[in-house]
Amino acid sequence: MTETEQQSVVVQKYGGSSVSTAQKIRAIARKICERAQSGVGLVVTVSAMGDTTDELIDLANAVTGPDLSPSPRETDTLLSTGELVSSTLMAMAIHSFGLDAVSLSGQQAGIRTNAVHGSARIAAIDTERLNRELGSGKVVIVAGFQGLGDTGDVTTLGRGASDTTAVALAVALSAEQCEIYTDVDGIYTTDPRIVPRARKLKEIGYEEMLEMASLGAKMNPRSIELAAVYGVPVLVASTFDDVPGTLIHRGEPTMELRRAVTGIAIDKNVVKIIVRGVEDRPGVAGGLLRPLADAGISVDVIVQNTSDDGTTDFTFTVGDADAQRALDLVRQQQAVKFRDATHGGELAKVSIVGTGMQNGPGYAATMFSSLAEAGVNIDMITTSEIRITCIVRRDDVPAAANALHDAFELDRAD
Ligand code: ASP
Ligand code: MG
Repeated sequence: MTETEQQSVVVQKYGGSSVSTAQKIRAIARKICERAQSGVGLVVTVSAMGDTTDELIDLANAVTGPDLSPSPRETDTLLSTGELVSSTLMAMAIHSFGLDAVSLSGQQAGIRTNAVHGSARIAAIDTERLNRELGSGKVVIVAGFQGLGDTGDVTTLGRGASDTTAVALAVALSAEQCEIYTDVDGIYTTDPRIVPRARKLKEIGYEEMLEMASLGAKMNPRSIELAAVYGVPVLVASTFDDVPGTLIHRGEPTMELRRAVTGIAIDKNVVKIIVRGVEDRPGVAGGLLRPLADAGISVDVIVQNTSDDGTTDFTFTVGDADAQRALDLVRQQQAVKFRDATHGGELAKVSIVGTGMQNGPGYAATMFSSLAEAGVNIDMITTSEIRITCIVRRDDVPAAANALHDAFELDRAD
C-alpha cells in the first residue's frame, strides 16, 4: 500500500467479562475475522479474562501479608500479565480461523507512560511497530491497561483502563472509530438494574458521557476525555448481541442531545471524609489534599463550611477503594492542623446530566423536590454546568434514581 492509500483503521476493545472463557475468546475471534475480511485494519485491545486482575491483586496481598502493601512496581508487572494471557489467547484463536494476527504487550505496542505505578498516564504511542504489523496484513491484538514507564518498567494505567488503551490507540493511529464491546449493549439513561424503565441512547455527546462515566456509567472517564480531546467517535456496543449500540461523539445537537436532561448517573462507591476543627487560613485545602493528589487519589465533592470560631470543617468524598488510604494520608500530613478526621457511612452520588440544563433554571428545584417526595434526604450537593449531583445514603439510590427518571421523563423516546 502506498502512503496515499492509507488503510482505514478501526480499534476495538473487549472487556474482561467478554473474554472470560476460551469459548468466548473463540467467538470474538470469529467476529474479528469476519470484520477483518472487509479490508479494514483492525487493532484489538483486550482486558484480562474475567476477574483475573482482582485475583492477581488478592495474590499480591496474600504473599505480602496484612501489615504491608505490595510493591507498586511488582504489582504492575504482575497485573500486566492478565492482559498478556487474554491477548495471546486471542491471537491464537484468530490463527485457528486461518487469519494472521499478532499480540503485542503495551511495551511492544509502543505505549509510553509516566512512572506512576498503578495509575500511569500515557505520554505517547510510538506507532512504528503497530503500523508495520498492520501493513503486513495482520490483526494486531494489544494487551490493554499497560505500558512502559519512563523508568523502563512496566506500568498499568489504573483499574478499568483498557478503554483508555483503546482510545489512545485510536488517536495514535487516526482510526475511524473506537469500538468498545462489553456486556452491556450501550449507554442507558441510567442503570437499568436500578431503574427498569431506563432506555438505551442512540448517541450522546462527549461532555455528557464524561459526566455519566465519571459518575458510574460503565466506561472509564479517562478514555472519554481522551476521545473528546481528539474527537474520536466511540461506539459502545454488546460483544455478543447484534443490536445497535450508543455512539459517543461530538455530534450535532439533535436527538437525545437536545433534551435538557440526558441521563441519571449513579455512583454507589462514595465515602465521605470529614476533617473537623481545621484551622482556617489560606493553604488549608491545598495542604490537606496535596498528599492525596500525589498518591493518585481523586477527590470529588469538596465542601468547606464557613468558620465561626477560627476553625472550619472540611468534607470531601473519595471512592470506596481509596477511603482508608485517603484518611491515613490526611492524618499523616503535617501541613495543616485539625481536631479529628473520620470517614462517614456508605454514600452514593445521584446526578442528573445534560447539556440542555445550561440554559434553563428550575432543574435543580425539580430534582430536589422529587427527591423530597421520594423521601430521600440529601447529604451534599454539587453542580457543574451540565450536571447536578446529590450525595445520598446508598440505600436510597433506587428510590432516588426512579423518582428522577420519572420526573425528567427519561423513558420517553425522542
Ligand atoms: N484488567 C484491568 C482491570 O480489571 C483493566 C480493564 O479491565 O480494563 O482493571
Ligand atoms: Mg477487568
